[in-house]
Amino acid sequence: MLQGVVYQNAEGTIISMNPAAERILGKTHLEFLGSSSVGEEVHCIREDGSPFPGLEHPAMVALRTGAPMSGTVMGVFNPREKTYRWIQIDAIPLFQQGDDKPYEVYTLFSDITESKQAERQIRDVTNYIQTLVRISPMCLVSYKATGEAISANDAAARMVGTTLEELEKQNFRNLESWKRSGLLEMAERALRTGTEQHGDVFLVSSFGMRVTLECILVPFMFGEEQHILLAALDITERKQLELDLRAAVAAREDFLSIASHELKTPLTGLHLQLQLMKRLATKAKDDNPFTALCSTALKSSQQVVGLLNELLDVTKIRVGKFDLHEQEVDLKAAVIEGVAALSENAHNMGSMITVKADHSVVGTWDRTRVHQIIANLLSNAIKYGEGKPIEVTVAQEADKLHFQDQGMGIPYDLQSKIFERFERAVTGGKIGGLGLGLYIVRQIVEAHGGSIHVESAPGNGSLFIVELPL
Ligand code: ADP
Repeated sequence: MLQGVVYQNAEGTIISMNPAAERILGKTHLEFLGSSSVGEEVHCIREDGSPFPGLEHPAMVALRTGAPMSGTVMGVFNPREKTYRWIQIDAIPLFQQGDDKPYEVYTLFSDITESKQAERQIRDVTNYIQTLVRISPMCLVSYKATGEAISANDAAARMVGTTLEELEKQNFRNLESWKRSGLLEMAERALRTGTEQHGDVFLVSSFGMRVTLECILVPFMFGEEQHILLAALDITERKQLELDLRAAVAAREDFLSIASHELKTPLTGLHLQLQLMKRLATKAKDDNPFTALCSTALKSSQQVVGLLNELLDVTKIRVGKFDLHEQEVDLKAAVIEGVAALSENAHNMGSMITVKADHSVVGTWDRTRVHQIIANLLSNAIKYGEGKPIEVTVAQEADKLHFQDQGMGIPYDLQSKIFERFERAVTGGKIGGLGLGLYIVRQIVEAHGGSIHVESAPGNGSLFIVELPL
């Protein structure tokens, strides 16, 4: 670091200086010679920016009092750099033997501009951080590892229902609220492991506030001491909304389950009665007009029963009551049965169904559910197949079942979505459905340890591939 030296006589006139002093002050010794502290005072300021009068310069005070001065900080305008340089000055008076008044004084000064700038930057950054902390909506409280709070912001005080002063008096290790909510344990773990701890806690504060907080506890070093920062967001409202939403979903599912149950019993009765009526009508007269009416009514009731079954299945899946009753099933036979059951539908739509199955494929699966997979995928192929041929393949490889149609296909972006609940790739009321069939099929397949996917090009048909482990 540069160390300047300036000699002044008993009147304060500058008589010599070293090159370092010339550099710091920005003038040559020739420019200075003959002038004094008083002459230079226009160029000097104090730390607060006010003028530094020449008579109060340390050299002048030392000359006047005969006592050395130490550590004075002064800003001196450097005309070469056109800026102030900061110096820290010691002034030492010199005496002739026997005199009580100094005959000269010399000042030693070092350039502290850089450290002043660094100090200023630190002050600015600290200021900025303090402003951020003060206005932050997040609760921020710092504690020593021993528990004493050292700083907190307004949001923290508001969150727990008190003032900053009260909050800063607290020691988290003595707080019942921290013990009960689990915060104390989290803080201890953070301090012990040196790692951040995250968690949601419900807290009844010492000031009676009941809040749910999303917390992060961050251990950090300050000086040589371990500290911990609590950063928390008040999520009381969000939690309540979540609870309300979950309750609403549960209520909707309860409703769906009860409604489908309650509707299914009378509908099944109605369906049986329609079957009986159809039989009686046919028996009474060959071309009885009631026969056709009964057939239409039967088809409608069958559809409603199908929809109710889908709803019931979904509620079963949701509450985890989707049990499998596994037994030996012949996939080829099941497909042939499924095709036969839907042959009338296919015929009405104009679709021909071909089954390709060289051998029987026997595995251990839930028979009813396997029939459901086939019925669902086949009826979709008929429904969305635009009356074109359909091919079902039963293979011995891992991908056991293929349902290929040549219908409308599925837009690429919806191909993975259609396996979700209530997701449909058709809009408008053109083709009816709840968007549950494929969701149920996927659940059944996955419950058997298998998988399902689709390959499709819009306008070019769809191929549904089911993998079922034996
Ligand atoms: P739903 O048929 O009741 O709408 P699904 O879950 O069975 O419900 O099918 C979901 C959606 O996937 C259907 O709405 C339809 O858009 C599309 N989809 C299913 N199968 C086919 C298919 N073979 N061809 C074209 N689109 C299909």
